[in-house]
Amino acid sequence: MSRPIRPGSALGLLGGGQLGRMFTLAARNLGYRVHALDPGHDCPAGQVAALEIRAAYNDVYAAQALARGVDAVTVEFENIPAETLEAVAQVCPMHPGALVLHTVQHRLREKRFLASRGFPVTPFREINTQADLSDATEALGLPAALKTASFGYDGKGQQKLASPGQVPEAFAALGGQQGVLEAWVPFELECSVVCARSSAGETAVWDVAENAHRHHILDTTVFPARIPAAVAAQAQAMAIAIAEALGVVGMLTVEFFLKAGGELLVNELAPRPHNSGHATIDACITSQFEQQVRAVCGLPLGDTALLRPAAMANLLGDLWPEGGDPAWERLLDHRDVKLHLYGKTEARPGRKMGHLTALGASPEEALAKVLAAREALKG
Ligand code: AMP
Repeated sequence: MSRPIRPGSALGLLGGGQLGRMFTLAARNLGYRVHALDPGHDCPAGQVAALEIRAAYNDVYAAQALARGVDAVTVEFENIPAETLEAVAQVCPMHPGALVLHTVQHRLREKRFLASRGFPVTPFREINTQADLSDATEALGLPAALKTASFGYDGKGQQKLASPGQVPEAFAALGGQQGVLEAWVPFELECSVVCARSSAGETAVWDVAENAHRHHILDTTVFPARIPAAVAAQAQAMAIAIAEALGVVGMLTVEFFLKAGGELLVNELAPRPHNSGHATIDACITSQFEQQVRAVCGLPLGDTALLRPAAMANLLGDLWPEGGDPAWERLLDHRDVKLHLYGKTEARPGRKMGHLTALGASPEEALAKVLAAREALKG
């Protein structure tokens, strides 16, 4: 095992969105400096980083320049081009590694990896032609979810197919990209597990998060999930087993569908902190972002214990009145609700601008607090 990267060192970050911002804030608390690379100007992570490098993700030279100035590099999102990742890895340690990112950048590769290791996934078919799609709808039944194999998140590149008549239009909407057809899962709830794995092979896992989506975007998380303890333990064990099978160093989030009867299916992997883990900042001894710093730097992993039940509500751009700000003073009147804003100046519908967290005696109480505070924001 290589020597730990000590506080005072510099860390590189590919991607400067809100996950990168919260990573950077955690790194700063531990005494590290962060150099962030992002194509945008004044990005959320850049605002709090020691150095902001504005460059496209396929700018291999800029990424190598970033890597030369730091002791290790991490990512805040998985869709960084392979050439960039390889170039960075030539210069300094990068966590997660290029092979992990390669696997999870592509839904088919990810699902095949999971299935080959015996992890339960939604039945799926590879789609290259319209005939593939017709055959797959017959094999898997309808409704079904058609997704692009690459670059999908928050429901982007996704469509629900309800009848065979929709096949030509749905195939055309793939726009020439490879697709994946998934059987529709009649889930009881969606949940996720965030875990960490260090270069020494040490692992740490948080409680299971219970997630509610609106229009495919995470809306609220209740922490811990209101599911039987045995199911929660199974989800946590599966997340760690997947991290070990992938050989992740850093963070891994596993999203699950939970079916009636307690059956878990893996929906998606993300080799990084996750929106559903934001409550760990206020509700746990160690946040998912501090853990990312610890894992990337080869430090001992922090205690993931939950202090009190918690809930998180996302603040999307839809809450911003045209040309103005939400009613912050009304929100801040909810004195036991924590506001996290990401420093984004332009609010757009569906854009994640910030989130709220509250703790409570029960998950229900915490959820009621964040929902009331978010409602107050509307003025
Ligand atoms: P994804 O980007 O694949 O995580 O999908 C976003 C959301 O769409 C999920 O969190 C689910 O709420 C829904 N969804 C995606 N795939 C399926 C499926 N096969 N069956 C039912 N719901 C799905």
